[in-house]
Amino acid sequence: MTERSLTHWSFKDAARACQGQSACRRLPHPTTLVAREPVGRTDKLLARSSLSPLRLLNLIDGALVPAASGATLDVLNPATGEWLADVPDSSRVDVDRAVAAARRALPGWAGAPARERSLVLRRLADLLERDADKLARDESDDTGKPVHVARSVDIPRAALNFAFFADAATQFASESHANDQAINYTLRAPAGVAGCIAPWNLPLYLLSWKIAPALAAGCTVVAKPSEITPLTAFRLSELAAEAGVPPGVINVVHGTGSRAGAALAVHPEVAALSFTGSTRTGAVLQAATVGQFKKLSLELGGKNATLIFADADLAVAVPEAVRAAFSNQGQICLCGSRVLVERTVYAEVVARLVEHTARLRVGDPREATTDVGALVSPEHAAKVLACIERARADGGEVLCGGARVVLPGRCAAGQFVAPTWITGLGPECETNREEIFGPVATLQPFDGEAEAVELANATRYGLAASLWTRDIGRATRVAARLRAGVVWVNCWMVRDLRTPFGGVGDSGLGREGGWEALRFFTEPKNVCIAVRGN
Ligand code: NDP
Repeated sequence: MTERSLTHWSFKDAARACQGQSACRRLPHPTTLVAREPVGRTDKLLARSSLSPLRLLNLIDGALVPAASGATLDVLNPATGEWLADVPDSSRVDVDRAVAAARRALPGWAGAPARERSLVLRRLADLLERDADKLARDESDDTGKPVHVARSVDIPRAALNFAFFADAATQFASESHANDQAINYTLRAPAGVAGCIAPWNLPLYLLSWKIAPALAAGCTVVAKPSEITPLTAFRLSELAAEAGVPPGVINVVHGTGSRAGAALAVHPEVAALSFTGSTRTGAVLQAATVGQFKKLSLELGGKNATLIFADADLAVAVPEAVRAAFSNQGQICLCGSRVLVERTVYAEVVARLVEHTARLRVGDPREATTDVGALVSPEHAAKVLACIERARADGGEVLCGGARVVLPGRCAAGQFVAPTWITGLGPECETNREEIFGPVATLQPFDGEAEAVELANATRYGLAASLWTRDIGRATRVAARLRAGVVWVNCWMVRDLRTPFGGVGDSGLGREGGWEALRFFTEPKNVCIAVRGN
């Protein structure tokens, strides 16, 4: 094996090295790298690792199998640069096999009593809870998020998604409409094979948010997790058989979006496609499936506003605005990345936000005291840092953060960026229009409700907003005028799984959650029975 030290590794070098090499998608940032000899698949540039990497497999027809081609991709820990796992680099062949298995399993699963489907979902929920510690560690290693966050938020919520839809499976009801001539009732049959494509930011949680309602509705599933964060989807695959999921009912095909994801999206046997990811990919999928007339649910990006009025309870609003901006390193579609503050309290709120943010600890995701972990990849960290430079170039003032954080010890090669507040940019700036998806948020002052609404609505996105006021009249007025699918008043990210979830404009199409999700995964059929008098 040849070794060479690369001490001045830049993002451009990484991009050059990556051309034509999908396997090195997550090259560690400046550190000592080891260039490996070809190992029969692809050349690899990997950080030194003390771990022996896991070999992840697809789940197809109840069996854990490699990609048909045998090709794999590397999965790296973004907090350390260590090589965590190999994941199948699947192609259309694997997707075809998975869809065929899902198709074969469909009559049995769709025809099973709701109670049976419910029991399987409940067992999956129980198994996720049983394995929550291990799953949280995997999720943290894979994404860079603090392990205590994965343990207290991601994994319990994933388990809850299965438990919720286990109940929903037996409670789902459809409409009936009677008039003097006829009684109409609506049957809801499973849509068929569901394709579920999920992103890397909340890997298991967002995947379960799709798989659970699809299964509850009687669909069979082919899921494609993000190739960047596949570990917990693999764990779920391992648990499927233990939970009694019949072969073919859940299939998980790993690989890149452009190959495995694209093949799944346009597969003619996939009747419903549920996608969560970027607006850019959402647009690609919408165009790619035109003319196929499949059901399409697109949960896309956000550039969400947090509106703080002068009468808000600042003792709560300030820490919550910080949490909304920087949770999961700002990598949640719901993060409040534009904070709008009424001018009369602007200076005070800005000072308090910065002070509160200074207390956040950027650190090793394994440590319980860490608030802000690593970004998901070197490429993403580079993108976020470039966005900060762009904001500076446009005249923005960085009040805190604004730079990479280099940690000592095992995380020295990690992708850490300090939580960053930026002021001085108007609504027309790219920084206030485009999603950054990192620990970067802006501040803008406003005068009165009308301007607050105008600023909040000044993007093409329309996912979520959080507004802070003690005036209930104002809360209802402003909430009604905000262009968003979700509005929180005096809170952020408080969830009730029965509520509709999704956005408008560039934030997507359709709604998830509760009955909305079950409606998406079913096809309604109206039956009309004439009523005739004697
Ligand atoms: P991407 O759109 O890059 O990827 C999302 C998923 O789609 C991944 O599994 C990806 O695979 C796959 N994919 C990529 N290209 C294609 C393609 N051509 N055909 C089919 N599948 C494809 O998003 P990110 O993973 O970067 O996730 C971050 C984005 O997700 C942000 O914009 C964020 O706002 C959004 N998001 C939205 C949420 C919502 O509910 N509205 C919730 C969470 C995140 P691979 O990664 O392997 O390339």
